[in-house]
Amino acid sequence: MIDLHIHSNFSDGKASVAEIAKKAKELGLKAIAIVDHSIELGFGLDEIKAKRREMEIEDAKAIYGIKIYSGIECGINHSGDVFLPMHDFDFIVASVHENAMNYCERIIKCIENNSVDVLGHLFSDMFEFSRDPKLEEKLIEALEAYGVALEINSTHKCPPDDFLIKCSERKIKVSIGSDAHRLESVGKVEWSEQKRKKYLSTAKLFSP
Ligand SMILES: [Zn+2]
Ligand SMILES: [Zn+2]
Repeated sequence: MIDLHIHSNFSDGKASVAEIAKKAKELGLKAIAIVDHSIELGFGLDEIKAKRREMEIEDAKAIYGIKIYSGIECGINHSGDVFLPMHDFDFIVASVHENAMNYCERIIKCIENNSVDVLGHLFSDMFEFSRDPKLEEKLIEALEAYGVALEINSTHKCPPDDFLIKCSERKIKVSIGSDAHRLESVGKVEWSEQKRKKYLSTAKLFSP
């Protein structure tokens, strides 16, 4: 099992990198990714924090002997842009973190104009969005064309089934994430795994 979406106390997560790594080791996870929020949020991961976190990740890898990726989760703004600190991350997750009338449009722009790897919690009902079959078709095309993985997120419990079914007809990569903000939620990816097995069992799993 893998969990490629975990927040640490370098952004709004409660647990330290070492605590997360220890927990992941206890759970027998094969790989995890620490994916903190980016600089568009005041508490996000700036250049200095990214460097410090990298050191903690290297230490934890050495102590616990598990694969730990260094990632970041950027909010997609109204123009489809993302903001990143100067740092070499293993991969970049892009997610919408506000109510958005132009939900699909801004995601498509983001995929076309930025080098992102994973689309986080698509159609999370934590935020308002509108759905439009034509735009969703374009979005799926963009995911496929740019090789961006679709995340199945166990906290937000999304994307919805009908979207996963549409993706199953295409060559879309899948990423699995708990979106844990506290230690108890690390590795809680059962919901994602169920959906993946049901709808996207033959899809390639994203690997940074
Ligand atoms: Zn998010
Ligand atoms: Zn997150």
